[in-house]
Amino acid sequence: MKVKSIRGFRDILPEEIKRWHFIEEKCRKIFEKYGFSEIRIPILEQTDIYTSGLGDTSDIVSKEMYTFEDRDGTSITLRPEGTAGVVRSFIENSMGKKSPVNKLYYSGMMFRHERPQKGRYRGFNQMGAECFGSESAYCDADIISMLWSIFSELELNNHVKLEINSIGTSEDRAKFREELVNYFEPQKDNLCDDCKRKLDTNPLRILDCKVETCLTTIGKAPSILDFLSIDSKNHFEKIKFLLEKIDIPFTVNPKIVRGLDYYTDTVFELTTDKLGSQNAVGAGGRYDVLVKQLGGPDTPAVGFAIGLERLILLHEQVFPEEYRQNVDIYVASLGEKALNEGIYISNILRKQGLNVEYGFDKKSFKSQLKRANKINAKYTIIIGEDELDRNVFKLRNMKLSEEKEYSLDEIENFINLIS
Ligand code: AMP
Repeated sequence: MKVKSIRGFRDILPEEIKRWHFIEEKCRKIFEKYGFSEIRIPILEQTDIYTSGLGDTSDIVSKEMYTFEDRDGTSITLRPEGTAGVVRSFIENSMGKKSPVNKLYYSGMMFRHERPQKGRYRGFNQMGAECFGSESAYCDADIISMLWSIFSELELNNHVKLEINSIGTSEDRAKFREELVNYFEPQKDNLCDDCKRKLDTNPLRILDCKVETCLTTIGKAPSILDFLSIDSKNHFEKIKFLLEKIDIPFTVNPKIVRGLDYYTDTVFELTTDKLGSQNAVGAGGRYDVLVKQLGGPDTPAVGFAIGLERLILLHEQVFPEEYRQNVDIYVASLGEKALNEGIYISNILRKQGLNVEYGFDKKSFKSQLKRANKINAKYTIIIGEDELDRNVFKLRNMKLSEEKEYSLDEIENFINLIS
């Protein structure tokens, strides 16, 4: 049997993980800075929450979900995104009754059966945030500010572009949809097959088609912004005003419609020109009807999700230096007695808060020092029979290649020797 991972699924290897930790930690800090608490939701949900939440005609529901029957015949789905599951939990746990506003963030793997390529996987990670209970534009601006602040704290803000739009209420969209169909129908032949299909199922989605031959026709299409009701227009104007006030650069792109049915009013996307065709690194919007649609109380909400693989790819390009495991001390001991002392010393140093690798595989000092160099240890402690007899250990500063001897008694205060 030849073992192999499933197409579109990848491992995150030890040599990559430090960058992941660094970025995830930054995101968590920012979520908490904005008053968000983490929620952990299951990876499997009943299929209905996605079919009724995301819309039958969305790409995710129509062709990308990993759906199968549970042993009792219930249809279940590996989560393709985080929002619907968080909404389900919000309803099930009556969160709205406990607090008027709930600010939640999540992190985890999502599953979509897409065509894999660089930056697009079938199993990928998102970190996202959802705020329930406020319909105000101040809330939208605060959420967008949080998204932007993740990229600016990571010093990636010069490599991303924030685009915002409003898709109004469902009535606004109904009028706009009619107008779009009237516009595209006579020019159907200029559209790709996918767009032709969307003309019947979800004409708004034609607007975010990236196929070259469709672009000219799409370019001249009517704009949703001309169909907004007064309230939606005011809401959008207020967000723009607030983003300007807090110095967040953005452009308005009326072609952003987002792929899912649950969005209302505000939608936004963060893209980069450094990742080729998979250029979206984060996206979100307002979804004022989803909670009710999934059987909960009428609750406005807004949120976003960041694609972690793409954020990491972007970060690697901008900051190519390696992110390494931090090893303070390598303990090299040779001979049974010294090895016994080595494990003892290693544990004392770990209790002092140091990261310690104990060389336990009875190799020569030469190969142990090679290993210490390889893992970038700051210091190596060397104990052989000779050192043990004299009750000392050698401390080698790896950067300066300098060695000093200390009494073994000093291990108890070791941290002071190197600080
Ligand atoms: P969406 O839920 O489609 O709005 O996606 C939010 C973010 O998740 C996107 O901006 C991407 O960064 C990321 N993303 C979506 N689909 C994939 C995928 N198949 N592979 C990797 N990242 C993805």
